[in-house]
Amino acid sequence: MSAINELRYNPLLGRWIIIAAEREERPWRPETCPFCPGSEEVDYGISVITLPNRYPALVVNPRPSRESVDILKVKGGYGYCKVVVETTLHEGDLCDIGLDNVVKYLEEIIRQHKELSSDPRIKYIFPFRNKGPEIGVSLHHPHSQIYAFPFIPLRIEREIECMRKFWKERSKCLLCHITELELKLKERVIYNGEGFIALVPFYAEWPYEVHIYPKRHIKYLVDLERSEVEELAKVLQLITRAYNKLFDRPFPYILSYHQAPVNSGDYPFYHMHLEFYPPLRSKDKLKYTAGVERGTWTFTYDGLPENRALELKRAIEKG
Ligand code: UDP
Ligand code: ZN
Ligand code: ZN
Ligand code: FE
Repeated sequence: MSAINELRYNPLLGRWIIIAAEREERPWRPETCPFCPGSEEVDYGISVITLPNRYPALVVNPRPSRESVDILKVKGGYGYCKVVVETTLHEGDLCDIGLDNVVKYLEEIIRQHKELSSDPRIKYIFPFRNKGPEIGVSLHHPHSQIYAFPFIPLRIEREIECMRKFWKERSKCLLCHITELELKLKERVIYNGEGFIALVPFYAEWPYEVHIYPKRHIKYLVDLERSEVEELAKVLQLITRAYNKLFDRPFPYILSYHQAPVNSGDYPFYHMHLEFYPPLRSKDKLKYTAGVERGTWTFTYDGLPENRALELKRAIEKG
């Protein structure tokens, strides 16, 4: 039996669900690490390597399980799922590997972006990084993933809508404007460099949520200059180091790269950025998304983002 990969449309929310029946079979924290040097796919002596996800949610020859009926729409789950193994080391975070290794990792994501966007059926490329058992990683070895979608995901559509509206009404980019505001107000900014700022956003949803905004108005990682790639690598190390310092324990998070869509028109108003969503609210307590968050998509935030920004600034100073 071949795999089932399909998209089902939720007409109540206007978004797609990806069904990938075979992902059930993916190994759960196996003893022998498939991403360590010497394993079948990784071999030896390579620091950063991209592999096809062996249990992909999206594939180039999708087989749906059934046909659409009326408004119950089904499509093939077309696309690509890749795993970017970041280092030969089995444990640790982005701050635990060499800076040149992080630069190589970013360059690899950029290279993948170029390759994936040459497929006209791909509309959105999404690199992300899951870290920590609390996030639910099935493999501990430091890695990122890239999903190349045949549609623009709802959350991104929403960002596009908001950025487009601001651009039209104020003749200016929303994120450029927020960056200016935050640099004036200072209380939430935890890093201010040549090419980037990092901050706990005014509108943080997760306790220690951090966003990284490039100061230049660019749509894609691909638009970064070499010096900016190097600075971004440093900022990634600075943030992850501060996170792990904060409670003197490995700090779980999701890192999400938001860029403009590909192969689907022009997005002059879109400003790319990175977002960290860490689930811890203290050393041993998790922030759960429960009734209000899931039932209404409204986040409740315990405490004040400004105080959390202060804590992170102190953790950065501790180095
Ligand atoms: N995986 C793989 N090759 C293997 C074992 C696992 O490509 O030999 C994939 C697996 O399908 C999973 C990814 O590696 O998608 C590890 O992802 P992560 O732990 O970040 O989260 P998951 O995708 O499991 O939710
Ligand atoms: Zn490993
Ligand atoms: Zn901008
Ligand atoms: Fe975003």
